[in-house]
Amino acid sequence: MIAPILGIETTCDETSAAVLDEHGRILGMVIHSQDVHRIYGGVVPELAARDHLRRIEPVVAAALEEANVRRSGIRAVAVAAAPGLIGALLVGVSWSRAAAFALGVPWIPVHHMEGHLFGPVLEDPHAVPPFVALLVSGGHTMLLWVPEWGRYHLLGQTRDDAAGEAFDKVAKLLGMPYPGGPAIEAAARRGDPRRYAFPRPMLKRRGGARDPDAFDFSFSGLKTAVAQTVARVAERGALARQRDHLAASFQAAAIDVLAEKTLAAMEAVGCERVLLGGGVSANGALGARLRAGVGPGGSLLVGSIRVSLDNGAMIARAAQFRHAAGLPGLDRAAAGTPIPGMLPWRPEMRDRSQDGRRGDGRRGGKGTRSPGGPAGNLSPISPN
Ligand code: ADP
Ligand code: MG
Repeated sequence: MIAPILGIETTCDETSAAVLDEHGRILGMVIHSQDVHRIYGGVVPELAARDHLRRIEPVVAAALEEANVRRSGIRAVAVAAAPGLIGALLVGVSWSRAAAFALGVPWIPVHHMEGHLFGPVLEDPHAVPPFVALLVSGGHTMLLWVPEWGRYHLLGQTRDDAAGEAFDKVAKLLGMPYPGGPAIEAAARRGDPRRYAFPRPMLKRRGGARDPDAFDFSFSGLKTAVAQTVARVAERGALARQRDHLAASFQAAAIDVLAEKTLAAMEAVGCERVLLGGGVSANGALGARLRAGVGPGGSLLVGSIRVSLDNGAMIARAAQFRHAAGLPGLDRAAAGTPIPGMLPWRPEMRDRSQDGRRGDGRRGGKGTRSPGGPAGNLSPISPN
């Protein structure tokens, strides 16, 4: 694979740069998680862009130093070119494009969500397709069936808020710091998840994989339910006493929906391997729930927080794959751009080769073939 490659990530609130070798191993990586948003309780796009601009030079310099690679030694520059906050994207796209031009090396723009699929393989060479992927971050909630690299079938996504956004907003309601995920998880460990019966939005739909909405998510109703309960509890002056129970009950509802839909998707697709990516994958309760649901025959592919959170290494790794496969880079930076080559999924595409068998799904040949015949008759999902 093309190397050493420099990967740049600036889609949201992480400024990150990483250098990978020809085997896709991390030689150096720096992630600067912006702190400027904390006082506002959420990411402020303009502040994010300004902070990226301030940080990108020192972050790249530190990653190169750690990798012990000179600028002139870089053979390609990759960047997460979409989706994301437009001002934030512009910093990474312009900087990386200029750097590639100055060095006279290829510039490889990739899709941020494709990058997340390459997070776990940075640490574990076995974290490769086929797998069902649950990508959960502050900006996205997406279920994909990935029979092989470069082939991404969209099973479902959120209709409104992202899973991480729900954690952040509920944390704000409970007076906890931003980002809310870690604070909610810590409080939930002390609380009773059955104290409040919050809704499990769209979960009843899991019954029928033929239902086109079966694998979609919605978190705004859950957030509203928590907000109304918090208001009632606060009126009684009981918020301090109930905070941990509210956090635990919310987390239980969110995880129920994420895990149940993911397990149902694996069943529908006929794959026992699941990849978990994005910042919410740091949630221990979600990981434990999926690991238990997957069973001894399957596997849960999840990286450490370093490669799950937004980072430059996953971007560089996705670019190495696209470059080696001769696939084009992303040709525009627009918020709604889908992953290149993303296809719909239909129940008749179920992989029947694994029916009635249990295994670790890592078998080559049949296990890795694309189910349901060629995808040539499916039109790619177009930008919205
Ligand atoms: P984005 O692309 O939106 O910046 P990241 O991949 O950086 O997303 O992930 C950030 C999100 O992950 C935040 O919404 C944060 O609350 C959430 N998160 C981080 N740790 C946890 C956790 N332990 N439990 C749940 N959510 C978490
Ligand atoms: Mg982030």
